[in-house]
Amino acid sequence: MRYKFRLQCETLTKQGKRPCNAPGILMKNGRIRCKVHGGYSTGPKSAEGKARSANNIIKYNEQRISNNKDNS
Ligand SMILES: [Zn+2]
Repeated sequence: MRYKFRLQCETLTKQGKRPCNAPGILMKNGRIRCKVHGGYSTGPKSAEGKARSANNIIKYNEQRISNNKDNS
């Protein structure tokens, strides 16, 4: 029982829906992810990064609205 507390990444890989067996960490949303599958990403930390991230959402929403206008 050496790896009793080892968390296993629960992502299914593209190859035959085989689970990823890499050791991962528990994320905020309760999922277990290895470093390959975004487990170590914690989102923007610095004020600059947070602003950039918020900007992307605004940009996306503006783009979506303008696309809707074109369609109708
Ligand atoms: Zn994984």
